[in-house]
Amino acid sequence: MSAESSLDPARLDKVINLAKRRGFVFPSAEIYGGFRSTYDYGPLGVLMLRNVKNAWWRSMVQLRDDVVGIDAAILSPPAVWAASGHLATFTDPLVDCKQCNERLRADQIDGQCPKCGSRDLTEARAFNLMFKTHAGPVEDDGTVAYLRPETAQGMFTNFLNVLTTTRKKPPFGIAQVGKSFRNEITPGNFVFRTREFEQMELEFFVPPAEAATWYDYWINERFRWYHDLGIDPNHIRIRHHDPEELSHYSAGTADVEFLFPWGWGELEGVANRTDYDLRAHSEASGTKLEYYDQASNERWFPHVIEPAAGATRAMMAFLLDAYHEDEVEGETRSVLRLHWRLAPYQIAVLPLSKKPELEEISQRVRRALAEHFMVDYDVTQSIGRRYRRQDEVGTPFCVTVDFDSLDDGAVTLRDRDTMEQVRISIDALVGEVLQRTYGR
Ligand code: ATP
Repeated sequence: MSAESSLDPARLDKVINLAKRRGFVFPSAEIYGGFRSTYDYGPLGVLMLRNVKNAWWRSMVQLRDDVVGIDAAILSPPAVWAASGHLATFTDPLVDCKQCNERLRADQIDGQCPKCGSRDLTEARAFNLMFKTHAGPVEDDGTVAYLRPETAQGMFTNFLNVLTTTRKKPPFGIAQVGKSFRNEITPGNFVFRTREFEQMELEFFVPPAEAATWYDYWINERFRWYHDLGIDPNHIRIRHHDPEELSHYSAGTADVEFLFPWGWGELEGVANRTDYDLRAHSEASGTKLEYYDQASNERWFPHVIEPAAGATRAMMAFLLDAYHEDEVEGETRSVLRLHWRLAPYQIAVLPLSKKPELEEISQRVRRALAEHFMVDYDVTQSIGRRYRRQDEVGTPFCVTVDFDSLDDGAVTLRDRDTMEQVRISIDALVGEVLQRTYGR
């Protein structure tokens, strides 16, 4: 697929439609008319989103010996966000259109309301994006709490806890995957920008002199992650921020961008945050978040390299990039060419008929595969229709159980992309599919 065709706006509609029709993503509270750019993940969406997060965790935690994970609270006290700078500066410039009252982000428009075309806009004012609530029954200033707008602060506030419990020393990282909340002024483009979303963040703590090297290292690693999981290299790029674009804490930021149907958009930011966060929390809390190097008898603040990705936004990019249409026997086939690690189901078991003797053997095959993979089981409609249904949701392999299977103990294994079919003994099936997935 060329760069041009990924910009086709019809592609976005097709993928949104498929996501709804096949149970990936539903508009939230749909029976009440939906709820403002909020989405629910359906039976296939929950599988795929989990796979995206697992692929990240595997790459960032499981395969490494220098990163550990945490799962911090979403509700947090104002002190955290005062120290991090979010209370003062986590704002977007908000303007109102005086004609149609639309609320707009001043930095996203060219002085003109995209809804009604008017140029009669209010002055921009800073709008804080954090969701504020109260912990407990009393609603006063002393009970204010915030829903976290990023997962990162949990890694900083737990820096010493992790250091003392794991005996790690810089360079090492703390990873976290979880929900974040931002009261976005203009959510939209499906799950690209929502008010509730999931992030996958790593805070990697390094000796100050090594920060520049690790910054480059993580930019490359993170680009490679998307590429390894099947994103066309023509559809992702690294964009280095200009100095005037940098956040107050950053000595360097580069985004991994994806070519969305409306143009390039951020998937992930990799930032060199220096020692800003550990210093700020040390000063505000009175607890010194330093590393004590026994060998040299020195204390210092590690510098932090942060790759911060969106899980829900990444899932959307994976879906868009995997969507293809091709001609099969004179018909158009829609197929999601998803990496097997991301596909909701890795394999589907399709008994040719509902006869009990086929059912029994098919269920045995399903159970054996289910020890290793997420397996769909489908007995409805013609086999051709069932293959198309699996292709459309990205299932890499289908296994057909037919009446010959009763005699020869073999089944037909079909590949989604080549559509090649091979006859294989049931005893060898699990090994063959493991070979075609983990073995590659
Ligand atoms: P943007 O400029 O798109 O608002 P950002 O630069 O504020 O994003 P970060 O704070 O760097 O984003 O967050 C890291 C990642 O979290 C983003 O690259 C994106 O993938 C994801 N993310 C941030 N805000 C949202 C949102 N409202 N909806 C979905 N994903 C989001």
